[in-house]
Amino acid sequence: MAAKDETQTCVRCKYVAVKEDRYCIHCGAPLKNRCTKEKTLLHKGCSKVNKADAKYCADCGTATTFSEWGLL
Ligand SMILES: [Zn+2]
Ligand SMILES: [Zn+2]
Repeated sequence: MAAKDETQTCVRCKYVAVKEDRYCIHCGAPLKNRCTKEKTLLHKGCSKVNKADAKYCADCGTATTFSEWGLL
């Protein structure tokens, strides 16, 4: 693994966080652009992690976390 793969940059404040973090420790923004489709009785849900510039999930078309937070 290259060193650049071990960090991620917050899209809101540009804080560089470690890969394992889910939320930015500086501003609270989500660091993973996950699909927001939740698990229901009829659907198993979708937790796909999309590209940082994706407004909608590449798998199911539901809005992503970044889109809902107004980060894009
Ligand atoms: Zn941040
Ligand atoms: Zn999805």
